[in-house]
Amino acid sequence: MPTHSPTQSLIEADRKHLIHPVVSYRAHEARGVTILESARGAFLRDKAGNEVLDAFSGLWCVNVGYGQDSIVRAATEQMTRLPYATGYFHFGSEPAIELAAKLVELAPASLQHVYFTLGGSDAVDSALRFITHYFNATGRPSKKHIIALERGYHGSSSVGSGLTALPAFHRNFDVPLATQHHIPSPYAYRNDYTDDQALIAASVAALEAKVAALGADNVAAFFCEPVQGSGGVIVPPAGWLKAMRDACRKLDILFVADEVITGFGRTGPLFACQAQAEQVEPDLMTVAKGLTAGYAPMGAVLMSDAIYQGIADGADASAVIGHGHTYSAHPVSAAIGLEVMRLYHEGGLLANGIAQAPRFAQGLDALLAHPLVGESRHRGLLGALELVSDKDSKRGFDASLKLSERIATAAYNHRLVFRAFNDNILGFAPALCYTAAEFDMLFERLTKTLDDVLDQADVRAALGRPRVAKHAAAA
Ligand code: PLP
Repeated sequence: MPTHSPTQSLIEADRKHLIHPVVSYRAHEARGVTILESARGAFLRDKAGNEVLDAFSGLWCVNVGYGQDSIVRAATEQMTRLPYATGYFHFGSEPAIELAAKLVELAPASLQHVYFTLGGSDAVDSALRFITHYFNATGRPSKKHIIALERGYHGSSSVGSGLTALPAFHRNFDVPLATQHHIPSPYAYRNDYTDDQALIAASVAALEAKVAALGADNVAAFFCEPVQGSGGVIVPPAGWLKAMRDACRKLDILFVADEVITGFGRTGPLFACQAQAEQVEPDLMTVAKGLTAGYAPMGAVLMSDAIYQGIADGADASAVIGHGHTYSAHPVSAAIGLEVMRLYHEGGLLANGIAQAPRFAQGLDALLAHPLVGESRHRGLLGALELVSDKDSKRGFDASLKLSERIATAAYNHRLVFRAFNDNILGFAPALCYTAAEFDMLFERLTKTLDDVLDQADVRAALGRPRVAKHAAAA
């Protein structure tokens, strides 16, 4: 009988029993899992002992980096004292109350109330339930339709997945629902707008047209990510978010900012709504990921006072509002969240993220000179490269080449992890603790990765005659 090493046994057990998120189940069975063992700072270590530079903060969440001992201490202390406290029956816990108050203090002024969830999907789901309840309770029950963006990601709950506009989340899942609609994403690279203002105007016009088609009395809200993450890091022009927020006010529909990725310093300020060019005050905001930096699960819906009061007074102010989760406002997650907030501010991580952003931008932009790279885009420490086989026509690659898989494999061989999306977009979200030397290492390894893939005969053949990048001369 063949004997398996402990690692091989784990891989076999994974193959047999553990269902992974967002993979082809058959492809995962064939490939097998890569088991991660430990991590420190910006580096992961796998079970085979490889040290890998993480340029994606886990899944755009470990914004403070790994191995922050003060977070471990805060969690341990809370676990020892009170590992669980329900929020039901009017109970609560100190860290949850403090974290809610802290978030209200730090968030845009419109947001005054916080409901805690376990992550982003249930934050979006909760926001949708609150919106439905609010319009029913305040005598506008026809307001049921929701508008979001093409290429948007709003999680994987049974309703939220319909707001998400990525085909894999719809196929065989019977979404989007008849009340869910999408307008074009502000994707400058794949559009021919003369300038940023034209793109912004087109987005506003698309929203106005959709609301007009549905009837404003039937539309509840517009959901968007300030920078679209999972749809390929689509960075809209400065002022886009504000224009969409203002349009929602005029159209009398709610504006929901989904800051699950963009929140907590990812794009520079604590929230992308607070960028200099935006200064946006949403009706609702969903957050997760950087809230606890991945050290424990937690998300939240932040809510305006008008919505809160509308729900609270409703048709019958004494009636129970039937929305809850056993682990809402979990004290250990909340204690972690409080320490993570301290690290962003007093710990200097927000400031470091802002200070390092130009280096990140330069590194990405310099790669425009590479034969595979058609576009570089970024805001703060959120960025992407879009790979093309022809820079002039912006033609992509044949799906049969499986370029994203090749890129991910080559990157891992160079001890680098980032997100290689299926449509040949590479996403980057380094931790806010990255040093200058770690950025140098990221771009050195990334260049080697792109070179390796370019050296593959069929990739080179797909390129045709290599051309000099249009932007390279200016970079
Ligand atoms: N909303 C946005 C904008 C996201 O990027 C994500 C996750 O990536 C979610 C919602 C869902 O969050 P979670 O995966 O924590 O459920």
